[in-house]
Amino acid sequence: MTFQNTREFARQLDEKDVLAKYRSEFIFPKVNGKQVIYFTGNSLGLQPKRTKAYVDEIMDDWGNLAVEGHFYADKPWWDYHERFAAPLSTVVGAKPSEVTVMNTLTVNLHLLMVTFYRPTAKKYKIICEEKAFPSDQYMFQSQVHFHGLDPKDTIVEIKRREGEHNIRLEDVLAKIDEVGDELALVLIGGVNYYTGQVFDMKTITEAGHKYGAYVGWDLAHAAGNIKLQLHDWNVDFAAWCSYKYMNSGPGNASGCFIHEMHHNDTSLPRFAGWWGHNKERRFKMEPQFDPVRGADGWQISNLPVLSLAPYLASVEMFAEVGMDKLIEKRDLLTAYLEFILQEVDKEVESEFEVITPSDPTQRACQLSVFLHGEGRTLFDYLMKNGVITDWREPNVIRLAPVPFYCSFEDMYEFGQILREGILNKSK
Ligand SMILES: *Cc1c(COP(=O)(O)O)cnc(C)c1O
Repeated sequence: MTFQNTREFARQLDEKDVLAKYRSEFIFPKVNGKQVIYFTGNSLGLQPKRTKAYVDEIMDDWGNLAVEGHFYADKPWWDYHERFAAPLSTVVGAKPSEVTVMNTLTVNLHLLMVTFYRPTAKKYKIICEEKAFPSDQYMFQSQVHFHGLDPKDTIVEIKRREGEHNIRLEDVLAKIDEVGDELALVLIGGVNYYTGQVFDMKTITEAGHKYGAYVGWDLAHAAGNIKLQLHDWNVDFAAWCSYKYMNSGPGNASGCFIHEMHHNDTSLPRFAGWWGHNKERRFKMEPQFDPVRGADGWQISNLPVLSLAPYLASVEMFAEVGMDKLIEKRDLLTAYLEFILQEVDKEVESEFEVITPSDPTQRACQLSVFLHGEGRTLFDYLMKNGVITDWREPNVIRLAPVPFYCSFEDMYEFGQILREGILNKSK
């Protein structure tokens, strides 16, 4: 498609957009009385209007039923998490028994490492990406210390080549071959939080399995953003937060995937709690732990229902729309944003460098852009003019045009504001 940098053209794309009606289902902050252009759905998704009713329902049940709400609420609390299995499994390409919701992301990755990182004298190394999300780096280091090992010898990072912004698949595979039989675990962010690079999870998972290693994925930036087929790819485990693309609210609950092939292996170690115990016998208060055969068997505590409620509202929205439609719009919207950036770049002296891969199979809903020659004042200008973006020092801007609620006209409008911001400053 040949794009045009005009409001009219952007509006035509919005008219053809089958998801356009969902925009009005979200609550946008306002700046100067005007709805913002929101590019930070990769950090905290907007609130869907239908969410409040889900939370109110729990509050009302608590008020009206108190402890009886566990069993007699319309949506009983004691097995509230099971409502996620069907819709959430469609979002991540799993079987319903392979997904559950609990805790928060880093906590879940720790718990999954308890199960899937069991170093021995000969097989103990972890492969991850260079400059992984800081929480993941702290997690790796602390897990390695916990096992009495030395992070320097244990954590193997896949590096970017000199002068390149992204990690090459061939380098990931070469590193796996190099570590070989010493490899215990591969754990990488499926979509890099900084560059937006999407990894070939199927190929990397296969490569790790060749050496008998477990392969897991941190899907913080992938869940609700890209097409996942966790079951078919034979991923051992994965976890994601729900507050980024999945619009569940600040700091909210995490989703987990544990492949079916591990469900009946009760010899796998895990940190157990009563909510992972045999559902029928949970309240018999038995001394011997008998895990639920499925991802639910990794549950620990009774459920934080008030935080699951907004997540459920959102997961049902995703299931209603389906990832395929979101992805179709995502690709067109991202391409249009890239075009708008190129158009603005022609009119200003500063130089833009998109560090996200240009290959559409290696990127999703994010463009990370170096604005050479620009600084923090431009960011402040954008914020003051109703463009909510994410600025990383020295001058990288991360833009996530989320297909659920961003419009093509937003992209056009953003281009106008960006150009003004740069030209005004140099006057
Ligand atoms: C956002 C993000 C996290 C956040 O972890 P929490 O435990 O939810 O604070 C972890 N890993 C990655 C890759 C992220 O992008």
